[in-house]
Amino acid sequence: MKKPIIRIQDLNKSYFNGAPLHVLKGVDLTVERGEFLSIMGASGSGKSTLLNILGILDNYDTGEYYLNNVLVKNLSESRAAALRNRKIGFIFQSFNLITFKNAMENVALPLYYQGIGRKKRNAMAMEYLDKMGIRSHWDHLPNELFGGQKQRVAIARALIARPQIILADEPTGALDSVTSREVMELLR
Ligand code: ADP
Ligand code: MG
Repeated sequence: MKKPIIRIQDLNKSYFNGAPLHVLKGVDLTVERGEFLSIMGASGSGKSTLLNILGILDNYDTGEYYLNNVLVKNLSESRAAALRNRKIGFIFQSFNLITFKNAMENVALPLYYQGIGRKKRNAMAMEYLDKMGIRSHWDHLPNELFGGQKQRVAIARALIARPQIILADEPTGALDSVTSREVMELLR
């Protein structure tokens, strides 16, 4: 029997800033290992809200979210951080690189939080920069890189801890169409 990696049942989420806003209404979603899927919907329909819940960056109100058969609900911040670090790679439209760290250091960061020594994590970061085709830019700061290069660094950072899930929130939203296609190919 296949075990889904993500299983969401009857998930509800509202925001309460003034008038309550019921954003996710009874969402069901099952994702198997190896699946590559897109969530489409109008701006404001709740895509980022759902991704943030999947990435354990935000909580939900009712329903269930199982990640690898483990119920993700009301976790402590440290437990949530540990799960995120080991299981999930996140890629954002705006890259979210650390501005004062170079490309290699940005990619190596998830390994730092796993307590891996500097030499080893930098060597692994170089390997992932190589896979993304930007090894030669390892010592550039984010503001010295083009958008597509920044997103390659962000993808390398998302992959380096070998997560089971990659979540990407409009990863090509800030890129031109040629670069967007390249980034989608890398993700695939
Ligand atoms: P999408 O990513 O599909 O554009 P979002 O998940 O960002 O949609 O937003 C869904 C709805 O929730 C929107 O109406 C948005 O204004 C609202 N929203 C998003 N984040 C918050 C928040 N932190 N507080 C209050 N409302 C929010
Ligand atoms: Mg969004």
